[in-house]
Parts: sequence; C-alpha cells; structure tokens
Amino acid sequence: MRCVRCGRCQFECPVFLQTANLWGGPVYGGPMGMGWTAITLGERLAGELSYLCLGCGRCDEVCPVEIPLSDIIRKLKSGYASGGKAG
Ligand code: SF4
Ligand code: SF4
Repeated sequence: MRCVRCGRCQFECPVFLQTANLWGGPVYGGPMGMGWTAITLGERLAGELSYLCLGCGRCDEVCPVEIPLSDIIRKLKSGYASGGKAG
C-alpha cells in the first residue's frame, strides 16, 4: 500500500525486462505487481510467477519507500512450494 507507482523496481528487474514487461501480473507488472497479483488474482498464480524471480534484490535497492519486494516474492514462492498460503 506504500507503493507510489514510480516504476523503478520494474526497470531494475532483469526478469521484467527480459519478458518484455509481461512478468508479474496483468495489471501491475514486475516486482511491484506480484503482491497485487496475489491479492487480486490469488496466491497460486502469484506463486507460479514467483519462480522466475532470481532473488537478486535489485528491486529492493531502488524502491524509494523501502518495500521488501524480494522478500514478498520469496514468501510467495515458499508458500506455493509448500502448497499453502504465503507466510
Ligand atoms: S529480486 Fe526478483 S523481482 Fe527483484 S529485481 Fe531481482 S529478479 Fe526482479
Ligand atoms: S520501486 Fe517501490 S514505490 Fe516504486 S513502483 Fe516499485 S514498489 Fe512501488
């Protein structure tokens, strides 16, 4: 909810750039879109998408409001792997 939609995380994300800006979700893409996708379309879809994340942390470094994006994605991945909700 703190996101100011600046897009910096998207343009630092190698996955977002390599997937022609299509990765992360249909409304908001990239790292900032993953949480939104989980809330609006379900953790299952977000969990599937999370597997492309490299865990490099570049998104965290550029976010001006210090949202722990890679940690959110890591939790989505972990939740998906265990068959449950992200925790
Ligand atoms: S940690 Fe994942 S979402 Fe963040 S920049 Fe790296 S690949 Fe992209
Ligand atoms: S860098 Fe942070 S504030 Fe900017 S769009 Fe990404 S999550 Fe939102």
